Amino acid sequence: MNRREFLIGTGMTSALATLGWSVASATAEGLVAARRYKIGAATVHVLSDGFIPIGPDMLFGITPQEFASILEEAHIASDAHPTAVNAFLVEIADRKILIDAGTGDILGPTLGKLPSVISALGIDPASIDTVVFTHLHGDHIGGVVSPAGNPFVNAALRIASSDIDFWTSHEMQAQAPDSFKPAFDLARAALGGFGDRIDPFGANATSIAPGLTTLPLPGHTVGHTGLMLESEGDTLLIAADIFHVPAVQLAMPSVTIGFDTDQDLARQTRLRTLDMVATDRIMMGGSHIALPGLGHLESAGDGYRWTPARYQYG
Ligand SMILES: [Zn+2]
Repeated sequence: MNRREFLIGTGMTSALATLGWSVASATAEGLVAARRYKIGAATVHVLSDGFIPIGPDMLFGITPQEFASILEEAHIASDAHPTAVNAFLVEIADRKILIDAGTGDILGPTLGKLPSVISALGIDPASIDTVVFTHLHGDHIGGVVSPAGNPFVNAALRIASSDIDFWTSHEMQAQAPDSFKPAFDLARAALGGFGDRIDPFGANATSIAPGLTTLPLPGHTVGHTGLMLESEGDTLLIAADIFHVPAVQLAMPSVTIGFDTDQDLARQTRLRTLDMVATDRIMMGGSHIALPGLGHLESAGDGYRWTPARYQYG
């Protein structure tokens, strides 16, 4: 990745300022939001941390008019898309694996619900044996850098070594726009919260737990990683930040977002992944898909149609 790509990928100063204002002016809700699914022998909890408004000024490859018309068609009566922020808890074979840790208190009152959701489900953070970070962005790691410290005191951290290398690099931080330099400090703080319990993985598929394997999805960040869960014939791909504005990026999968470190690679990875999910008819989940957060894709026109996972009764 060269400097130009880096700057394009992160040069969203005004958009971030706008976002900060939007978040600060939004209304906080005290709702507990989660969904539970059986995937073979595994139980997967989709845990909502809240939402973040994303406007057209944060996207590349779409006009404000196209954005407004897609939102209207999706019955979203707002100038900005309310983008969900989810974490996932996978329970399998006496293991408890938390995939991402929410925003904590770093992104305002529409977010930071994950601790109350975990508590409402009766799950002791100390019982989680493994935390996986899909990548080192604030909406995935903020939950371990609160003033109270990392609540997952017994968990090992699994994270791509390439994301560690990038986000702990003083050289990359020096090249980054001022508005993005704190993201590097945040990543270092999140890693620091796990002390010597960090177990990085490389670019090859790596087993995290029985049936749960890493799938590199590079572009959004260098080490951005999905998780493939396969159990008793059921398959679920947790595709993390494969898209951020579902209504838009399923209709127009080539649209990228300012947070992508490498726009071209993020686009290629998304096109390849969505094609695989639709062709193989597997269930997928995403960090930025509104609850239930899991569902299926079918080809539709130049893009895809999303069918949310059916509620599992009983
Ligand atoms: Zn994200």
